[in-house]
Amino acid sequence: MATDFELKGQVIDALEKVEAKDGVSVMDALMIEKVVVKGGEVNLTVIFEDDAPKETRWDMEDKIADAVEEIDGVGDVNVMSATRSGASGKPAASAGGGGGHSHSHGGHSHGPAPSGTPQSKPLDGVGKVIAVASGKGGVGKSTVSVNLALALSKLGHSVGLLDVDIYGPSLPTMLGVNGRPTVREKRIIPLEAEGLKLMSLGFLMEEDTPVIWRGPIVSGIIRQFLQDVDWKGTDYLIIDLPPGTGDAQLSLAQSVPLDGAVVVTTPSDLALIDAARGLQMFKTLKVEVLGIIENMAHYVWPGAAETREAIELLKKDKASSTAIAMLEKTLEKHEKIHIFGDGGGRKEARRLGTPFLGEIPLDGDVRAGGDEGKPIVVRDPQSPVTEAFLELAKRLAGENPVEKDGEGDSDKPKKRRGLFSFLRG
Ligand code: ADP
Repeated sequence: MATDFELKGQVIDALEKVEAKDGVSVMDALMIEKVVVKGGEVNLTVIFEDDAPKETRWDMEDKIADAVEEIDGVGDVNVMSATRSGASGKPAASAGGGGGHSHSHGGHSHGPAPSGTPQSKPLDGVGKVIAVASGKGGVGKSTVSVNLALALSKLGHSVGLLDVDIYGPSLPTMLGVNGRPTVREKRIIPLEAEGLKLMSLGFLMEEDTPVIWRGPIVSGIIRQFLQDVDWKGTDYLIIDLPPGTGDAQLSLAQSVPLDGAVVVTTPSDLALIDAARGLQMFKTLKVEVLGIIENMAHYVWPGAAETREAIELLKKDKASSTAIAMLEKTLEKHEKIHIFGDGGGRKEARRLGTPFLGEIPLDGDVRAGGDEGKPIVVRDPQSPVTEAFLELAKRLAGENPVEKDGEGDSDKPKKRRGLFSFLRG
């Protein structure tokens, strides 16, 4: 029997024979996104132009599914559709992306394309939906999202983390999780790690998928991530948005019913200018900006802890008060090294009339933790960085309290859409 790897090759061969238009195959027309074969089950996504009529889409889905089903050894075939619209800067709400189409043994069903403005549709069973954004990449937005989520969880909240960073979904690496979410009773069950419910574009997309394909697909998928994933019972849903303030980000931010957003920046002037743009984006979207978080705010001198200990010993031994005073002064002056400048985030927050939520120190263990799948909050619960994240979580939760114990609307019947057939468990 053919292995999944061999089957995938045969699936691609078969797709090369399915004509898109004028003798060009669906592969050559770049219409096929991500082909996954697992245990003989084939999942794939077809990309259509925004204005492709639904009948055309369904015909094409049928043609593709029929071609794949003919391959010996292939079991269920799940074809999902998406449109190219997101990257073109149109609001996601009108993009009409993402009908699902299942060719499993039970016959097939056509999922309607989502419509309406999701912003007006709060998520059932979710307390607060908070986005973590940044004006540019590399400032630690994903690091803050993951550790903030873990800190909220440590405080006793039930937390979900949704990673929709198209440029590099980092949640799978940062938490050391991978796999495909399963479906139970028509709801997608998020993966779990360290007590968090997790959903990431990284669970669905191949790492080498070109970004130009990701944008169009995600705006449709994000709405499905929100509406069809079983987030019920989540107090805080943290969303890691892609960096930047371009049309793609705008349309993504727009497809999420946000209760508020935090903007991550580093203290450097350039990052602060970008952060200001980020704030402007949320103002445009009429989303409340909960505040600015300054990441990599300062470096903690590694000798600080030992020096503090030495001062205590010297005091106990009634050593020279001049020496003690000198050491105390050294500690005060050098404990926090402001590599990118001091107080920039706080000043900028004041200038923009936005709350300053706190500083996260720069620490090599943060990077190491992210690379090893053990974020600093679980890797080193006593570290100053963990303390900083806990402070941040307390402040955010304090200012954005959620109703608990089913006081919310979690039992309200949910409107269903027949999507995500491709994820059938
Ligand atoms: P973004 O999501 O903004 O692109 P990441 O969270 O991926 O940024 O962080 C970029 C890099 O910086 C990663 O290697 C991460 O581990 C590192 N990093 C983030 N925050 C810190 C910090 N406070 N101290 C040290 N390294 C950090």
